[in-house]
Amino acid sequence: MNNPSSPVKLQGGCACGDVRYECTAEPVVSLNCHCSVCQRYTGTAYSSVRIVPAAAFRFVRGELRYHTSTSNAGHAVSRGFCPNCGSQVLGRIAEKPEIALISAGTLDDASLYPPALDLFTSRAQPWVVLDDRLAKFDEGIPAGPPNT
Ligand SMILES: [Zn+2]
Ligand SMILES: [Zn+2]
Repeated sequence: MNNPSSPVKLQGGCACGDVRYECTAEPVVSLNCHCSVCQRYTGTAYSSVRIVPAAAFRFVRGELRYHTSTSNAGHAVSRGFCPNCGSQVLGRIAEKPEIALISAGTLDDASLYPPALDLFTSRAQPWVVLDDRLAKFDEGIPAGPPNT
């Protein structure tokens, strides 16, 4: 299934370039998470992630450091950042090792695979303009695409 010669669908890296990655699968889902934990970690209003099969993701260069905390949905989420420049690049959820959450801003072309969902809109900042075209969830999704 995971053919090593399959074409790269996504690639990106941190701000300083020490960490580079690629992914040979298209995202399972693209979403924006407005939860309070994502706001704190990203240092801004929300996190936009591209959720991909972990088996299709690999680092081309460098290593991340991870910090783990409990998400608003109750998951143990490890957020990986470049030890040199601090860019948050990748999220991993302990209970869902089969997926990886790419921080959209680290993609070389973040216009690809735009988000379809807004999660935790109940916690969204009042100054964020939400896109009506995206499906909205006050909290996480009870059963469905993994959320952070
Ligand atoms: Zn870096
Ligand atoms: Zn979140």
